[in-house]
Amino acid sequence: MDNVQMIDTFKAFKDFLCNFARTHSPTRLMSSENTYSLSREHCNLKYSDILPQNVEGYPATKEFLMKVVDILLDFIKSSNDRNAKVLEFHHPHDMTKLLDLDVPDTGVTLQQLLLDCSTTLKYQVKTGHPHFFNQLSCGLDLVSMAGEWLTATANTNMFTYEIAPVFILMEHVLLTKMREIIGWNGGDSILAPGGSISNLYAFLAARHKMFPTYKERGLSAIDGQLVMFTSDQCHYSVRSCAAVCGLGTDNCVMVPSDERGRIIPSKLEELILERKAKGHIPFFVNATAGTTVIGAFDPINELADICQKYGCWLHVDAAWGGGLLLSRKYRHPRLSGVERADSVTWNPHKLMGALLQCSTIHFKEDGLLISCNQMSAEYLFMTDKLYDIKYDTGDKVIQCGRHNDIFKLWLQWRAKGTDGFEKHMDRLMELSEYMVRRIKQMPDKYYLILEPEMVNVCFWYLPTRVRNMPHGPEREKILGEICPILKARMMQAGTLMVGYQPDDRRPNFFRNIISSAAVTEQDVDFLLAELDRLGHDL
Ligand SMILES: *Cc1c(COP(=O)(O)O)cnc(C)c1O
Repeated sequence: MDNVQMIDTFKAFKDFLCNFARTHSPTRLMSSENTYSLSREHCNLKYSDILPQNVEGYPATKEFLMKVVDILLDFIKSSNDRNAKVLEFHHPHDMTKLLDLDVPDTGVTLQQLLLDCSTTLKYQVKTGHPHFFNQLSCGLDLVSMAGEWLTATANTNMFTYEIAPVFILMEHVLLTKMREIIGWNGGDSILAPGGSISNLYAFLAARHKMFPTYKERGLSAIDGQLVMFTSDQCHYSVRSCAAVCGLGTDNCVMVPSDERGRIIPSKLEELILERKAKGHIPFFVNATAGTTVIGAFDPINELADICQKYGCWLHVDAAWGGGLLLSRKYRHPRLSGVERADSVTWNPHKLMGALLQCSTIHFKEDGLLISCNQMSAEYLFMTDKLYDIKYDTGDKVIQCGRHNDIFKLWLQWRAKGTDGFEKHMDRLMELSEYMVRRIKQMPDKYYLILEPEMVNVCFWYLPTRVRNMPHGPEREKILGEICPILKARMMQAGTLMVGYQPDDRRPNFFRNIISSAAVTEQDVDFLLAELDRLGHDL
């Protein structure tokens, strides 16, 4: 064999190995539909053969990333395929066996990474599937997703204008617009990592406003016991403020709600007076606009009157219901009076369908965020910069780095326009009304727990054996026991996901959420028929 022959033989062997690896890798065996193969030329390459390590590596880089995009597009396609499953459920123990999760000492090939990506999505729950009704954030808005792709590629940090000029200006414009929609002129806002942290910002600003020396002096700045008030239906993050900020959860007073889940204002006033009589300092009232389970709206105007009377900060947690601010039809009476609040939490990643995570906190008064949270780190927030440093938003927050959560929302808002968002909100509400009508048409199979104010539809499914029982505590107990079993059947069938939970008044019940643009009337009909198919014999 001469040298040329030897090289040819060697090449042929290498190609053989390469093809063998492509068709016989363990991942390949797991999911036979994998067709994400790199060309022969690139199939043995590793991370160091593409950019940025290999400056000649652009063609391989491009092929690798295009294949990743193919994988993502296939996921999007099957997420929108009503004949495809919502999930392929396996218990953690079995799932661990199906996956190769090891991070090895020697890195794997790009080809293997593609198989890894594909396998990852194969077992991921399709939250954008029209039959996923499980969470407050459902759906996959593709424009917002395109924004998230760009965000990932730009990979910048939001603390200074210096390194995120366009995104910082977008934040400025969009947050101003959102405050206008709330009904304010001026004020200040920031994007936070979730509604829970947004609520924490409201708490911190309220305390700072009332006790400006707390920042330097800590607990000794407050002469007495601070107390906050919220309804018993509030999101648990409100109570967690009391735990995190030194009040203790005993000083987060849970005010009773009425049978529709709305805070009872007269009870709030009684409880404020009770605490004042003990010498405590009531300082913060949280109103929930769209409660997490039932979707109830606290009467903001009545709470604002009470806050005015007793000198309390009024925060509106509209993490869930905030989207309805965009609907002329549904905004009132639900959010009437929101402009009287001192602060508002509003999560675009919930009803508005922006991709996770996208959460905003708004303040009526400008300047509070910065004076409350500023630490003036000299290495980031120099005061002698080239540009107007008011655009360096990083010192308004308790984080250092901040993820770019604005671009996906900005792009989505550009695409839809404010009118498009309004239509979207109205459509989600209409679909929920449709679901309520359908439930009422089938009283033998479904029991509507209460008339919803939002897209949370709370109900029980009635299997055959309870259909002739009178409704009362005895039947409710059985219905509550059925929920986890029916949910388990849904997950094992993989065809549907709807959440359930108990509350203070009743055992387990289903809470259906329509917050995905993919859902239609037919999907609501499917949901009701599928519950019946899976549960009639329970
Ligand atoms: C979801 C929710 C929150 C918490 O938001 P995260 O973004 O999940 O932290 C707070 N309040 C209400 C009313 C919610 O529904």
